[in-house]
Amino acid sequence: MMSKIRVLADHVANQIAAGEVVERPASVAKELVENSIDAGATRIIIEIEAGGRRLLKVSDDGEGMVRDDAILAFERHATSKIRETDDLTAIGTLGFRGEALASIASVAKVELTTYVEGASAATRVTIDGGRMRDVKDAAHPRGTTIIVRDLFFNIPARRKFLRSEATETYHLTNLVTHYALAHPEIAFTFVNNGREVVRAAPAKDLRERAYQIFGQEFLDNLLEVDGGEPQLARVTGYVSAPRDRRTSRDSQYLFVNRRFVRDRMVGRALSEGYRSILPHGVYPAALLFIETPLEEVDVNVHPAKTEVRFRRQAAVADAVREAVRAALASANYVQPQEPEPVSFAIPEPIVTAAAVSSVTPQPRIEFVPTPPSPPTPPPPRPPVEVSGDEIARDIELMIESAQSVKPAADLPPLNSADKFAREVTAESLSANIRPLGQLEESFIIATDDEGLLLIDQHVAHERILFDKYRALEAERCSDAQQLLVPETFDLTPAQAAVFDDLAPEFESYGFELMRLSGRTVAIKAIPADLPRGEARNMLAELLDTVDAEKKNTARDTLRDEIAASLACHAAIKVNMPLAPEKMRWLIDRLLQTSSPTTCPHGRPIILRLSTRDILKGFHRI
Ligand code: ADP
Ligand code: MG
Repeated sequence: MMSKIRVLADHVANQIAAGEVVERPASVAKELVENSIDAGATRIIIEIEAGGRRLLKVSDDGEGMVRDDAILAFERHATSKIRETDDLTAIGTLGFRGEALASIASVAKVELTTYVEGASAATRVTIDGGRMRDVKDAAHPRGTTIIVRDLFFNIPARRKFLRSEATETYHLTNLVTHYALAHPEIAFTFVNNGREVVRAAPAKDLRERAYQIFGQEFLDNLLEVDGGEPQLARVTGYVSAPRDRRTSRDSQYLFVNRRFVRDRMVGRALSEGYRSILPHGVYPAALLFIETPLEEVDVNVHPAKTEVRFRRQAAVADAVREAVRAALASANYVQPQEPEPVSFAIPEPIVTAAAVSSVTPQPRIEFVPTPPSPPTPPPPRPPVEVSGDEIARDIELMIESAQSVKPAADLPPLNSADKFAREVTAESLSANIRPLGQLEESFIIATDDEGLLLIDQHVAHERILFDKYRALEAERCSDAQQLLVPETFDLTPAQAAVFDDLAPEFESYGFELMRLSGRTVAIKAIPADLPRGEARNMLAELLDTVDAEKKNTARDTLRDEIAASLACHAAIKVNMPLAPEKMRWLIDRLLQTSSPTTCPHGRPIILRLSTRDILKGFHRI
């Protein structure tokens, strides 16, 4: 009988590899830009036409290639970057698999021109669909230019999967932005259909580069991150303030050893840094750089090299989370440490902000003292909700404005509709808040030294209870109320799968739960302030989210989620009349919490209409 196994011809193998490496024009650009960086370029120019499908050109002033190398470069597994298996354990270059050029050339028409200093002439290699057409002398300054035309011209099925020109251009812009941020020392130019959209001169650091690309206003709203530890993972960069919210992860620029990655673990650790101040499904913007010793990270996980695997995954996640948390703490968005337990049982003396910022021994009050400077905190911006498309437009606008590095005033404001009543910063709150009454039985109307305040009674109480539950849980002295007649409820199969894992966490908050036969659970006790009718809903809700969110969420995040859910179910509702004493109580308690201006789900608690704006409104100033 005839044998049926064949070794595939090279050009077929290359096209198969291209399936993984070359997904869209931006992935071609990624490989070419990485090659330029690996070649030591100080200047990289990226030009595209028709979203990169018609033309994609990358020029650099790197070391270039001698003629033999220029030809060899297109062979599969041809690389100058590693030699031995051992080299794989410490990869210091962006490329190393030696398959990018071979893959790209197998699905496009490619022309490479390159010159090494001292050579008699530059070399031009032409390859179409993996077939070498021509090698000849050419003129080129030191460095390399690669032109990729008609991507997927020989694979109609792949061509069909390309998206609109706008979408592909967005991905390309995003990619150039990433590499420009990761390498401030390199000059980047990006030309789209003949129009220069990015021109960034060599910058001295990330801050200057971010300014070139995004402008001053973007920078002003970022918090600096500098944490972790060098032996494992140093974490540096910028993250957004909690009020700046995105509905996707598109504004998160994550890098590992200056390699741009899309790593779920890093993204999740970043979100965990924002636990209890940003709600689910809402993401911060971030430029985060993780520097780790080469042997701590495996970059050879996927052909596109956008995923990495850390040797000590959990420790790196901790480092990221804590570095982000510390950045938020130094900007007073969260307490430096977890709030210390405070007894909530007996009425306590009211502690004023003045008392806290003075030297009176009140060390354990969860109130953020007013920092001595700056005297006028920047006006808070209302949350910006941005969709993917809007981000694309944002980036485009930002890049357009950065083109000529105009002063910040010319940049598009991130919030064009400044609201009259604004969110309040923690620093601007004094203890001198006087409740006047209620609006719609839902919002407390109050005054303070700076104007009129509206306090959302439900979220205010939610914040108070959240801190309380967290504190009690940490102290392991949660209060429970026994139910005379245990309540039973049935778990769905998905809930049942996570129940045993989560039950101890619920119990640490005062629940007493017993698994009866099958998927039935009996609730024998519930946390002290939780209305009995809410217990079952709350448990079901939490079991559902945790399931959807995979089980390996950090315990602290999980505990925060339980506390937030408890707080939400136990808090006073809207449309509920409040007696004056109750309003007073609520405000005093709120001021003692870890974050009196943001609820555990990230919503604002207090809005202020400043006296100044009122005066302006009446044309008195
Ligand atoms: P890899 O980057 O994984 O080594 P590639 O297929 O991307 O594989 O490139 C193959 C080789 O071609 C590289 O190892 C490098 O030696 C050379 N090369 C590619 N692009 C450039 C460039 N812009 N400048 C200098 N050398 C290059
Ligand atoms: Mg490469």
